[in-house]
Amino acid sequence: MVGKTYSQRLGKLEITTIEELLHHYPHRWEDLSLISKISQVQPGEKVTIQGEIIDSRNIYTKYHKRIQKVIVKDSSGQIEATWFNQPFLPKTLKKGLPVSLAGKVEVFGSKPVLVSPEYELLKGKETIHTGRLVPIYPETYGVSSKWLRSRIAPLIKELTPEITDWLPLEIKKENQLINLKNALKQIHFPNNKQEAGEAKQRLAFDELFLMQLAGLKRKKEWGRHKTTFSLDINQEKVLQFIGSLPFTLTKAQKKAVKEMLNDLNQKKPMNRLLEGDVGSGKTVVAAVGFYVAFLNGFQSALMAPTEILAQQHYNTIKSLLEPFGVKIGLATGSKKINLKNGYDILIGTHALVYNKVNFENLGFVVIDEQHRFGVEQRAKLIKKGKAPHLLTMTATPIPRTIALTMYGDLDLSVLDEMPKGRLTIKTWVVPKQKRAAAYQWIEKQVKDNQSQAFIVCPLIEESEKESMKDIKAAKAEFEKLSRAIFPNLKLALLHGRIKSKEKETIFKDFQDKKTDLLVSTPVVEVGIDIPNATVMMIEASERFGLAQLHQLRGRVGRSSKQSYCLLFTEKKHGGSIRRLQAMEKNHSGFELAEIDLKLRGPGEFYGIHQHGWQKLKIASFSDSDLIIKTRKSAQKVINQLNQFPPLKEKLENYTIRLVEPN
Ligand code: ADP
Ligand code: MG
Repeated sequence: MVGKTYSQRLGKLEITTIEELLHHYPHRWEDLSLISKISQVQPGEKVTIQGEIIDSRNIYTKYHKRIQKVIVKDSSGQIEATWFNQPFLPKTLKKGLPVSLAGKVEVFGSKPVLVSPEYELLKGKETIHTGRLVPIYPETYGVSSKWLRSRIAPLIKELTPEITDWLPLEIKKENQLINLKNALKQIHFPNNKQEAGEAKQRLAFDELFLMQLAGLKRKKEWGRHKTTFSLDINQEKVLQFIGSLPFTLTKAQKKAVKEMLNDLNQKKPMNRLLEGDVGSGKTVVAAVGFYVAFLNGFQSALMAPTEILAQQHYNTIKSLLEPFGVKIGLATGSKKINLKNGYDILIGTHALVYNKVNFENLGFVVIDEQHRFGVEQRAKLIKKGKAPHLLTMTATPIPRTIALTMYGDLDLSVLDEMPKGRLTIKTWVVPKQKRAAAYQWIEKQVKDNQSQAFIVCPLIEESEKESMKDIKAAKAEFEKLSRAIFPNLKLALLHGRIKSKEKETIFKDFQDKKTDLLVSTPVVEVGIDIPNATVMMIEASERFGLAQLHQLRGRVGRSSKQSYCLLFTEKKHGGSIRRLQAMEKNHSGFELAEIDLKLRGPGEFYGIHQHGWQKLKIASFSDSDLIIKTRKSAQKVINQLNQFPPLKEKLENYTIRLVEPN
């Protein structure tokens, strides 16, 4: 239908088929529906006028610019319209033809004029660029809304009769939804706002409904095709292990442990997501699972996104489980691993997947910060066992409704409670004029309290991976701080390009209190646990989402000492300051998540683009009513898909690329 150039351009908008073009929804409609008599147009108004072209020509200015001038008249009067640098326009807009022009009325001299209005020749009554609610689309270089409209309009006419509406009638009725044909017509070319609204409702419903249904389907299949060894739960030994911990489990941890053990005891492999705020104690829940797998003679694997985290998990798990005779190994990029050593638990980065790591009988897999891994990496690790039980963990505080939508195939455990005795982390937004005082205060904290501090550099580029720019900025910041601000303290710099051996040393020195301040890029630090560090200072904090800030803040406050989080910003007022102030008052990741969801929308907050999670085209994750409705409907039909062949087919063609972990 289109040539190579256009198909490449359309590819940028993720349009590769006609169907995708039909489902390229406008993000708004420009209201050009007021058709005015020419004599009545008012300066400043957005209007459409329709009439006959009585003059049309190119005019050359002194500076060799070309202006196109067209005069249109209707029964009430005449008006001039001008364009710039479109010399071929008079060939289209020929004298004598009926035309429709739309745009803002300006005044030139004392006469009203239309400057660069939208135009289309009138053939019959229907217009697509003027005289109506005109769709404005997400565009890309070389693909304008005008181009899209002129392609989509005939498609709607030709194709809509052939479109099957795959949504069961019953569901449409219950949810008062219009049919698909009308929805497509009305989303692109609504006759009024109400029609546009109806179309949005239907298409947003479809989007969430399919997502949920696909999740439920995967969940069903995960259970159907796989059997595994059910693990025997030795109550006495498990309780003994839990009793050996230096603390008592929180209620939430107990519940999560129970849910997990119940799953491990089944013949169907577990597929559970453990969600809990930073510091809520997910690791120890996983440790119970490791112990149970060990008692049953199975190996386990724990995969973490960074070497530092893997190293730290290794230390933690070792101290918890080695006393029980469990043998623990570490596999990171920098360390070759010899499996002949007969490890019971192997902890590592993605090196677990790519190195020649072969398990003998992998029975339990844990993936920490699961969204940091691609589907393939996760799948590869799982394939190293026959059908191992899987626990994925995340500290991203996704509200439950959303988690159920995005991860419909997973069972969910939530740690919604922090261990007792933690002091809330005092959080301050630090404006420019207080910067110097804040630096002094940090130095005093370090010296007087034998404390340590993290300094997080500005996020230069929005990306999950660290960019060279981030590293440069961190280096510059580190040098400035070492020389000019904290010459009396010991600073270290940590970023992704540092060799892992060196990284380990830096990390260990910090742990051993040989360094006072750890300066790092925004992404390198996730998940690390240094209880003696009590100050988290974040540069240009307004660039981060609240969830990210909360994650960073979670690096401190891990001991009984009072901890602090300083949010540096050069911004003086406005939205970003209000967002940051939410950090001062709020200490629950879930609540901050909701706030950011409201203030910035889900894409921004969850970093959905960054994490490779699914994007929504038209629905919104903040629409919890719709999430609940679609979920109900999905649950209703999941077990009777055979009764709805078109739906079944639709679902088979539905590819969910990004969220499935198995
Ligand atoms: P996260 O959920 O962020 O992975 P961790 O598992 O790293 O959290 O736990 C954070 C800290 O809290 C660790 O130092 C851990 O030993 C401690 N911890 C975990 N559970 C409890 C508890 N029930 N009571 C007190 N401290 C706990
Ligand atoms: Mg953790």
